[in-house]
Amino acid sequence: MHTVILGNGVSGVTAALKLRQLCPERRITILSGESTYHWSRPALMYIFMGHMRYQDTKPFEDSLWGRERLELVRDWVTAIDTDRRELSLARGAPLAFDQLLIATGSTPNKFGWPGQDLDGVQGLWGLQDLSTLNASVKRARRAVIVGGGLIGIELAEMLQSVGIGVTMLVRESSYWANILPLEESLLVNREILCHGIGLRLSTELEAVLDDGEGRARGVRTTAGEEIACEIVGLTAGVSPNLSALAGSGIETGRGVLVDNRLRTSVPGIFAAGDCAEIRTQSSGKNTIQQVWYTGKRQGEFVAQSMAGEATGDYETGLWFNSAKFLDLEYQTYGSVGLDVPGERNLYWQHESGKHALRIVYTREGVIGFDTLGQRWRHSVSERWILDRTPLRDVLANLEEAHFEPEFFRRHEADMRRSFESAL
Ligand SMILES: Cc1cc2nc3c(=O)[nH]c(=O)nc-3n(C[C@H](O)[C@H](O)[C@H](O)COP(=O)(O)OP(=O)(O)OC[C@H]3O[C@@H](n4cnc5c(N)ncnc54)[C@H](O)[C@@H]3O)c2cc1C
Repeated sequence: MHTVILGNGVSGVTAALKLRQLCPERRITILSGESTYHWSRPALMYIFMGHMRYQDTKPFEDSLWGRERLELVRDWVTAIDTDRRELSLARGAPLAFDQLLIATGSTPNKFGWPGQDLDGVQGLWGLQDLSTLNASVKRARRAVIVGGGLIGIELAEMLQSVGIGVTMLVRESSYWANILPLEESLLVNREILCHGIGLRLSTELEAVLDDGEGRARGVRTTAGEEIACEIVGLTAGVSPNLSALAGSGIETGRGVLVDNRLRTSVPGIFAAGDCAEIRTQSSGKNTIQQVWYTGKRQGEFVAQSMAGEATGDYETGLWFNSAKFLDLEYQTYGSVGLDVPGERNLYWQHESGKHALRIVYTREGVIGFDTLGQRWRHSVSERWILDRTPLRDVLANLEEAHFEPEFFRRHEADMRRSFESAL
């Protein structure tokens, strides 16, 4: 049996390594167009800013793949023939498979804006984007970033670090306000402005302007403003990458449609990670999970499914995400900003605007946390939510969750005062 894993991101390689454990004799090939070896995508900004070298972002030594008998092929898949069970490749000969995992990740959204394909206009996803950006910054002084999400703010920081003046266009009335509760969102607005980054709220891109030679010379916004720039970063969200699936007959929706064992509509073909859309019978709304740790989780599960050893269905698990808004570290756990019936919120913010904590709870116990400018222990936070720990117990034991005891001691009294007065 030959299993081909299309994509060497976190989902693909996690699946490959787990499958090797479960099926020691199986021939397994990992195929990727972007790079031969798996690397850590969230570290992209640190490569650009010179904090890490590309080779430092590879979580495994290059020798691991040979030792584990995982064949690596670097090529782009241009088509999947499900009848002949064969992949067409951009450069190499077609590759036959008996079993296939599609783990093609995401791709930055483009909404058909005039000028979106001009030179200097790009998204930020992979190593190729990094090369394009490195070339563009050489002739740029100003940049406009379209979209106020996690990748947009990283791109803003990257460009600012090389002396480029940055303006962000944010569709919502405050940064990432469709995800963050208002207080956190306002805090990030402030952080952006404090860093000297321009922020246009309730503003969208109308068109990228051509300099007459096929390069971006600026943007026009929906507010009618023209902003001169040589780089336009398109970071208005991402969508599952379905580029290899056209004409394959594999059912797709927003992503590659899979059941709760991560099987696609075609027998022997699976999907996992950012590209997978899990059909959800109960709520009627399918699930797409597009973060690192869910890619890992799905990768582990899909390997069991592919080995015929999955004992139950894929569980989406407790929501967790972490990121950095310039100097503000951010973590979110469980249900925050979801308007769960009966939920109440406690929110503390330090007067410096550099630290905040939100606790979301119901009568049954805590259901979510947002932390800004402080780091919490994943295991403690997760346990408190899964156990529906009563609010009083959480408040009495806040120190347990903190990574930095010093931070906690400094702010404990202020935090407690704020929470007690709100209760
Ligand atoms: C700049 C940036 C910062 C991020 N920061 C965070 C963070 O802090 N925390 C977090 O949780 N998440 C973060 N993410 C998101 C996280 O990186 C993704 O959720 C994760 O990488 C998804 O893993 P994946 O394996 O599903 O897909 P990907 O990592 O996208 O890998 C997809 C693979 O498929 C291959 N591929 C696709 N199409 C083809 C084809 N046609 N032919 C051949 N190969 C193909 C690609 O070469 C690639 O190897 C960040 C993403 C970016 C871009």
